[in-house]
Amino acid sequence: MPIVRVALDIPLSTLFDYTVDEGMRVGVGQRVVVPFGKRQMVGVVMECVAASTMDAQRIKPVTRVLEDSAPLSAELLGLLNFCSDYYRYPIGQTALSALPTRLRSEEPVIGKPIVSYRLTASGAALDLADVPKRKAVQRRVLEKLALQPCALAELKTLSATAGAALQVLLAEGWVEGFEAVASNLPQCEREHIFDNAHTLTREQQVAVNAVTQADGYQCFLLHGITGSGKTEVYVHLMHHILRSSNGQVLLLVPEINLTPQLEQYFRSRFPDAEIISLHSGLSDTARLANWRQAQSGRAQIVLGTRLAVFAELPELALIIVDEEHDGSFKQQDGLRYSARDVAIFRASQRGVPIVLGSATPSLESYHNALSGRYKMLALTQRASIAAQLPEVRCININQTVMHQGISEYLLREIGSRIARGEQSLMFINRRGYAPVLMCGGCGWLSDCKHCAGKMVLHLKDQRLRCHHCGYQIRVPQNCPDCGNADLHPVGSGTQRVEEILQERFPDARILRVDRDSTRNKRAWQTMRAQIHANEVDILIGTQMLAKGHDFPELTLVGVLNPDSALYSSDFRAAEKLYAQLVQVSGRAGRADKAGSVIIQTAFPDHPLYRALQTHDFTGFASSQLAERQMAGFPPFMYQAMLRAEGKTESEVYAYLNQARAAAVALQSEVEVLGVVPAALARRANHIRAQLLIQAGTRRTLQSFLRAWQPDLDALAQAKLRCSLDIDPLEF
Ligand code: ADP
Ligand code: ZN
Ligand code: ZN
Repeated sequence: MPIVRVALDIPLSTLFDYTVDEGMRVGVGQRVVVPFGKRQMVGVVMECVAASTMDAQRIKPVTRVLEDSAPLSAELLGLLNFCSDYYRYPIGQTALSALPTRLRSEEPVIGKPIVSYRLTASGAALDLADVPKRKAVQRRVLEKLALQPCALAELKTLSATAGAALQVLLAEGWVEGFEAVASNLPQCEREHIFDNAHTLTREQQVAVNAVTQADGYQCFLLHGITGSGKTEVYVHLMHHILRSSNGQVLLLVPEINLTPQLEQYFRSRFPDAEIISLHSGLSDTARLANWRQAQSGRAQIVLGTRLAVFAELPELALIIVDEEHDGSFKQQDGLRYSARDVAIFRASQRGVPIVLGSATPSLESYHNALSGRYKMLALTQRASIAAQLPEVRCININQTVMHQGISEYLLREIGSRIARGEQSLMFINRRGYAPVLMCGGCGWLSDCKHCAGKMVLHLKDQRLRCHHCGYQIRVPQNCPDCGNADLHPVGSGTQRVEEILQERFPDARILRVDRDSTRNKRAWQTMRAQIHANEVDILIGTQMLAKGHDFPELTLVGVLNPDSALYSSDFRAAEKLYAQLVQVSGRAGRADKAGSVIIQTAFPDHPLYRALQTHDFTGFASSQLAERQMAGFPPFMYQAMLRAEGKTESEVYAYLNQARAAAVALQSEVEVLGVVPAALARRANHIRAQLLIQAGTRRTLQSFLRAWQPDLDALAQAKLRCSLDIDPLEF
């Protein structure tokens, strides 16, 4: 009797065998329902074999074959197998986590096409201010569709009368319906319309030619300064593919907030193309619809965040990873994959070119380009003549008048921008540097009692909150240790900066944009509109604001507290800071206005700031690479991190020490470091520690990990949370 080997969402590194009843037709890649213990589970058939090594009596039959969706392709299964092996993560959990939620359930996928609605070009060009205020529902529908195409059901969640509003918008020609699920209709000949807005610069043309002439797999690093027109290169590459074949292009971007804008943008350049997006912000229905659109080959441009790297793309012809250095391509739990690295594997598996784009490439990619493994394509000039690189200046905070963390110099510059009707952005390096409460009497700090971290002061609701575990209390009146009433905030968070600026500029319109205020997608959309309409004088924000938003009136960027990154225990801190500051500097003066960037620092002569002032990424990167080589860090070494977290120190350390002993006993060529506390050694009353493994080559590391796996499986304990992180980014 034929046997199928099924991947199930179970934390075991194995497939599960089932028999197939006579008359049941089942093939590799198909989704099936099978009994597992007392439950019925959905799984994916990974292999069909003639016999099982298991006792025939114990093998149960497949309950049902789910035929409502095409089987997964051999290519995707190959990719999943690679990821499971490379990231040491159970194959079943790898395979199931790559599927849209709806395909993980037994519920039949609705076969009939779902009609979705989207803005037409005239709808997209519409200024919402022109829609009368009393037509609130129409406005909300337009706002929602500006973010992403939606089905009617989804629009109805906005208002009971959304259906009627939609009819009006359809009649106006602002909105159009389209079939979101691929039907079985044969692919029709499509006209290819391309809005060629710009003549490429010489450098852009060289880049486009290099990629279009690639024969099979090749990895390109498109290193272009901000404003050099990387997007234009992507557009021309897409044009080349869409014009010459039925090919699909996958474009990965780091930030979910950027996908609706980009989608609109590509739609304006390719009005006739099928463009879809895949990201976690979509409803299950929309994500499934888009996924199937990609699977059918009809979606020509697939735009998405990291999870999109697992989309079915039968006609895949090119992959682009924008802002390839961005940390959000790495998933930090479950299958801890790097979407950039998986994309590179995918391109090589498929034999198609891949382009990694960035103004500040990761040192891994940059090193590969220098050594010739990747081909470097450089855009060294800004694309439009009007745009100039911003002027970067450092202000020595020890030699200037400071007002609670903001220099007089910077305040004056902000004042002159307000007078000219221009915008300023105050950039705060990270939420982690938010203000904590300190006692002037005894030096007490607002430690979280469950963590090794500090609790952060939230002025609005007068609370202290731990950003690691969520524990919170009311702000105490007196010091809990000595009773002193002299409690004051130290460090500066976005709220405090807002207070200080409001005091200095009482009439200024200040907008604070941080993770808290942008959690709501609509809120962020509204804020963007406000900024674009120049209804804001000063923006205060964290890294949220640094990413790819174009604000034409913004001419000044102030960087308030970057220095702490220079002393971080994370060897990538300088690299990350540099990338962040280049990115946020790129926000200044993009249109016809020259921008300036003012960095407040105690170390104006630090090489990192010097390189920023001279826009010398190459110099910065080579000095960083030299340091990494000396110290034996990536990209010269390959790393894996075993992490453990548990209630007691002894359990956590006993586990890691045993794992370490087992690693040493394998006598591999890897370097096994010591067991050390994690950067945040205690979180939510759990002790956290880690063990780092390093090797000179990927191959050495991988074969060691394979040998080590059985030891780790044997040591695993239910009361500990353990994980293995390959190519870790967080230390
Ligand atoms: P990057 O992504 O590299 O920061 P963008 O792709 O956003 O840069 O391009 C910056 C600006 O230059 C955009 O406004 C874009 O329309 C414009 N641009 C790009 N290429 C050209 C070109 N060849 N000629 C004129 N303008 C261009
Ligand atoms: Zn005290
Ligand atoms: Zn805490």
